[in-house]
Amino acid sequence: QAKAAGRNTVRFFDPAMQAAVDARAALEDDLRHAVANNQLMLYYQPQVDAHDRILGAEVLLRWRHPQRGMVMPGEFIPLSEDTGLILPIGAWVLETACAQLKAWAAREDCQHLTISVNVSARQFRQSDFVEQVLSIVLATGANPHRLKLELTESLMVNNLEETVNKMEALNDQGIAFSLDDFGTGYSSLSYLQRLPLKQLKIDQSFVRDLLVDSKDAAIAQTVINLAQNLGLAVIAEGVETQAQRDFLERLGCQAYQGYFFGRPGPLQDFEKLLFAEAL
Ligand code: C2E
Ligand code: MG
Ligand code: MG
Ligand code: MG
Repeated sequence: QAKAAGRNTVRFFDPAMQAAVDARAALEDDLRHAVANNQLMLYYQPQVDAHDRILGAEVLLRWRHPQRGMVMPGEFIPLSEDTGLILPIGAWVLETACAQLKAWAAREDCQHLTISVNVSARQFRQSDFVEQVLSIVLATGANPHRLKLELTESLMVNNLEETVNKMEALNDQGIAFSLDDFGTGYSSLSYLQRLPLKQLKIDQSFVRDLLVDSKDAAIAQTVINLAQNLGLAVIAEGVETQAQRDFLERLGCQAYQGYFFGRPGPLQDFEKLLFAEAL
């Protein structure tokens, strides 16, 4: 018990609160070794074009915990951001994704595939973020034109100039940016106009009830029009049904991602889907 209570651990008299604090500390301890112990893995979820052809994948982290089983990012990404563990974890994600791009480049039927990687604000704000990404791209031999980084609106609240500079430096090397969960944050349109983005990603919360909630449909339409007017591509996430896909197409959407096209899964599952499509 004394060992579990680290230096910065707060002690509570409420046993339930104490249990929650202890559980978090235990999880943090485990997470600290997750990279070295080979417990992290990437799931691949297809992103498709207007003809439902696979353009590439978004990679999504999974943690194969020896006792807890598969832990979802919602349960450990916030913790890893608070503790700074997102920095080594994020580097591992980028390395793994870039190594996969390199492997695909050697296969004629896979050369065109892109990989989208989620980047936390904390990761992006590191002063040497640009150098880190470029050195990973160089070391793995990945084609930077196949790499897309997904950022969220939380990045835009301060240091706009620094954000733009970093994005431009990576853009210059061929790396593209997508704005994830678009519409759920608090970005202003003038920021949006200044960022060198390639794509807006319509958040799944607007897709879910698209067919029954006219306000969600209006927001989806607005995001699609905004993207078109700014010269950006647009992709909808969380597409679960043919009806949602067709509705989005009528609104002018050109790319989709969601369970309807494929659930996130191990690389082998993604490639199986890809080769089934090619037949
Ligand atoms: P996100 O980047 O917005 O990813 C989309 C989430 O929606 C994923 O959840 C995905 O599994 C889920 N999803 C995809 N299609 C559908 C669908 O049709 N219906 C529904 N209901 N959900 C769908 P997941 O894998 O649990 O990831 C959650 C979040 O964790 C991600 O949201 C992202 O913000 C974060 N995350 C995941 N991997 C990484 C990573 O490598 N680095 C960082 N920094 N964050 C990550
Ligand atoms: Mg994402
Ligand atoms: Mg998202
Ligand atoms: Mg999300």
